[in-house]
Amino acid sequence: MAVALDISRALRNPGQRFPYQHEEHLAPQDILGEMVAFDSVQMTGHFALEEGQLHLEGRLTTVAHAACAKCLEPADYEVDVPFYEIFIRPQDLLEESGDDTDPLDRLAYDGPQLAVDQLALTLTLLDLPMRFLCKETCQGLDNIVSFQRETHADQEDLPEQHPFSALQQLLNKEQEV
Ligand SMILES: [Zn+2]
Repeated sequence: MAVALDISRALRNPGQRFPYQHEEHLAPQDILGEMVAFDSVQMTGHFALEEGQLHLEGRLTTVAHAACAKCLEPADYEVDVPFYEIFIRPQDLLEESGDDTDPLDRLAYDGPQLAVDQLALTLTLLDLPMRFLCKETCQGLDNIVSFQRETHADQEDLPEQHPFSALQQLLNKEQEV
């Protein structure tokens, strides 16, 4: 169970900004068949209660680990995302229409313990690159490259699939539960 962010100071003192430093631990994620692991996620910034809504801003950083798309050696990617999210009260959430809004726009808080594990996961996944490379100039393994040229020659016009599509599946799956 993830440790929530304690926002009780903001609830007691509306309109006042408070600094926070928060750590989340993300489980390894299967993204389009690639396993991606993460260092602990650091979130730092400020939160404040404004007119009944909790404003959470800051910066999320972690390092994602996967295999290089070209040579399969370990590859790292530094995730560094600024964010500004507004959490509304659950009762306000129910009043909203069922339109297809951005899932990040429908965050809610309920009491002094703010769960930000889903937010951390979403922000992290959205920041991941199309593919991991051990270094920009990686030439890959010669035999792998020639193999790919032969088998994927007819697919080269297709756009690369973005990790976001995997995220979308993830969110849909959670909504069904
Ligand atoms: Zn490589």
